[in-house]
Amino acid sequence: MEIQITQDLVQKKSITPNDAGCLHYIEDFLTQRGFINETLTFGRVKNLWSVKRNNGPLLVFLGHVDVVPTGPENEWEHDPFSGYDDGTFINGRGTGDMKGGIACFMSALSRIDVDSLNYSIGFLITADEEGPSKDGTVKVVEELLQRNEKIDFCLIGEPSTLETVGDNIRIGRRGSINIELEVLGKQGHAAYPARVDNPIHKVVPFLDKLLKEVWDEGNEHFPPTSLQLTNITAGVGAHNVTPNNLYLKFNLRFSTQISGEAIQEKVENFLKSEGIKHKVSFDINAEPFYSEPKLFTDVVCQSIEDVQGFKTTLSCSGGTSDGRFISKTGCEIVELGPKFETIHKIDEKIEKVELERLTDIYHQILLNLNEETNS
Ligand SMILES: [Zn+2]
Repeated sequence: MEIQITQDLVQKKSITPNDAGCLHYIEDFLTQRGFINETLTFGRVKNLWSVKRNNGPLLVFLGHVDVVPTGPENEWEHDPFSGYDDGTFINGRGTGDMKGGIACFMSALSRIDVDSLNYSIGFLITADEEGPSKDGTVKVVEELLQRNEKIDFCLIGEPSTLETVGDNIRIGRRGSINIELEVLGKQGHAAYPARVDNPIHKVVPFLDKLLKEVWDEGNEHFPPTSLQLTNITAGVGAHNVTPNNLYLKFNLRFSTQISGEAIQEKVENFLKSEGIKHKVSFDINAEPFYSEPKLFTDVVCQSIEDVQGFKTTLSCSGGTSDGRFISKTGCEIVELGPKFETIHKIDEKIEKVELERLTDIYHQILLNLNEETNS
């Protein structure tokens, strides 16, 4: 069933922020199983919030149906929206990120009797994860907080696997901040240093400070915060002219030991202490989150071991995810999904056996959680 659902979803061209009928498809499936659906629309983004209420805690499956653009379609081996089955792989945009994960969870759900569970199950599916992420999960979570909806556990089907399904799960993610700086100077003749104010000279000691800064040491779960310069431009093209301005872009991936605001403050202080005339803008596009492993993480780890026979690894690696939004509810979060090797690339695909195994693990999680909540 998971293979068929993956193909059905991939065939809907849901390039972010369009859901292209994916949400309706999932809704239909859930309605048949006694879920109550709600479409929460913010801006031009549709989000699905669907719950099957039983007694006991609430487990939410979090995902997104939107996909990144294909790039040049003629470079794909198979039509990116065909869901083509080549015998080993299902091919297409979104197979790994993350329609495959959604399909596996739906398929796992169809193997159990949801009425007899000792817990409730919710689906929060957005169409704004790959885009600006302004009208998706973040807004739905705000709405749920207002309603005092209590979420206990959250399973995110984002790609997390390194080699073999379930070998790596995520319980947190780093934060990310983009910084754009314009250093202001005064253009002039290279032969008259007293009459120019060279922004390149100005920026060198600043960059030296920036690159030598130890932002934090990281912690048990996160590597130390790191900075990368991503762009630097200046100059008018002539050998004998110093530039008026210099433009610099850099990004930091940061741990839970520091906040986006603290980084901003440090950068502003460096600019001040170096006496740099400037314009600067900060965009904290994600705060980090960390979910303390408790009952649900144990259930996931045990389920992976039951199905795969190995112990998984807990990590906080990777880019950003919507986990940062749902963490505001205080729920316990685990991200477990397929391999991320081909996601966002040309020829994105997922192995059929991977889909089958991931479904087995999700199914086992549903069963094991039922045991743990049986009191
Ligand atoms: Zn994704």
